[in-house]
Amino acid sequence: MTLDARSLMAAVKANLGALEGCPGHRFERIAPGQIFSKYRCAVCGGTADLDFKTGYEQGLQHGKTSAGAV
Ligand SMILES: [Zn+2]
Repeated sequence: MTLDARSLMAAVKANLGALEGCPGHRFERIAPGQIFSKYRCAVCGGTADLDFKTGYEQGLQHGKTSAGAV
């Protein structure tokens, strides 16, 4: 493994650790003017792409719906 690959893997692991340890994400666009901007959580500092953010928010919504149905 090259040094670049190692540092990339370390960065990915650190980001996943931040995201997994977060009590609740609040995603904000990193580059508001860009169409494909990534998002950074204002709580944990973890970064995510639009797919992750959308899935997270949909999971929250489904959780609320399920909780309301019980
Ligand atoms: Zn977070």
